[in-house]
Amino acid sequence: MGRRLLCLVCSLLLAGGLVGCAPTKKQVTYLDVFDTVCTVTAYGARDEEFQQLHEELVRYHRLFDIYNTYEGLPNLKTVNDAAGQPVAVDGAIIDLLTFCQDVYTLTAGKVNVLLGSVLALWHDAREREVLPSAAALQAAAAHTDPAGLVIDRAAGTVQLTDPAARLDVGAVAKGFATQRVADFAREELGWTSALLDIGGNVCAIGGKGDASFVIGIQNPDQSSVLPYVQKVAVRDVSVVTSGDYQRYVELDGTRYHHIIDPTTLWPATYAHSVTVICRDSGWADALSTALFCLPQQMGAALLEQVEGAAALWVLADGSQVCSKGFEAYSSS
Ligand code: AMP
Ligand code: MG
Repeated sequence: MGRRLLCLVCSLLLAGGLVGCAPTKKQVTYLDVFDTVCTVTAYGARDEEFQQLHEELVRYHRLFDIYNTYEGLPNLKTVNDAAGQPVAVDGAIIDLLTFCQDVYTLTAGKVNVLLGSVLALWHDAREREVLPSAAALQAAAAHTDPAGLVIDRAAGTVQLTDPAARLDVGAVAKGFATQRVADFAREELGWTSALLDIGGNVCAIGGKGDASFVIGIQNPDQSSVLPYVQKVAVRDVSVVTSGDYQRYVELDGTRYHHIIDPTTLWPATYAHSVTVICRDSGWADALSTALFCLPQQMGAALLEQVEGAAALWVLADGSQVCSKGFEAYSSS
């Protein structure tokens, strides 16, 4: 074979990825799902696969949306609007709400998706920059009993038995959906190396080739010159942070953020942020919210009940505490 022909064949093989070259990296950012910025990075994936993955994200976004309805698609807003009546829903909603019941049990009520009536008052407070009254919070809290959610898997329906009760799945839905979409990417698309960053809920599929993905954990002190408090090196796990810097209103010098302690009905004050690393993205999301609503040691005790879960707290005084097992992920 002449030298020029040999060169041409080598170039073609390289372009086709047949000679041990690294798979091509592709990254796409979506702004139309979960009201946040979602960035999907995958190695060796095709454009049509990205499209399929995006369709899955949109499907879960619409099903779990509590603010908008979609023609012909009963979703969680439909369930809230129909409170008192059963609503026939997609199996993914039944699975999500069943998961939420498990979350309520494991977290002893610290994460309660039936807190919607209370959370709506805090949502309004942030928008209007006026604190809710204690009386309004107490009145809303009378409609947060988790027993008021009836799931009939056989009939394919869910029902809020209390007409004044409201679901708010903000603490778990992104993580639950991320896990579902990651499973789809692995099982249906055959992805082996990808990172799904769904508004900071990060899920690693495999690693970055033989290496791990390195993820920066955001510094909750946004006035600091250090953007990250730590970096972690991960593969095949999820990393989720709950923080007081993500959504808040500041009134008279006090920050009122979006994670509400069901015991006090006010924003939890134990930590500035809690990051949880564990295999399942739904549990990572649920646990980060739960630990945010607990004193650090109680959170650590809860974490021990979930195999392989690790956490990093940035406490109210700015100090950092790691759970057992967290250091294994530390990256310089
Ligand atoms: P995350 O950022 O995952 O910690 O979730 C925060 C979101 O979950 C909030 O914006 C609310 O929609 C909702 N939420 C806040 N506090 C709670 C709570 N204690 N239990 C259930 N959902 C909550
Ligand atoms: Mg959460």
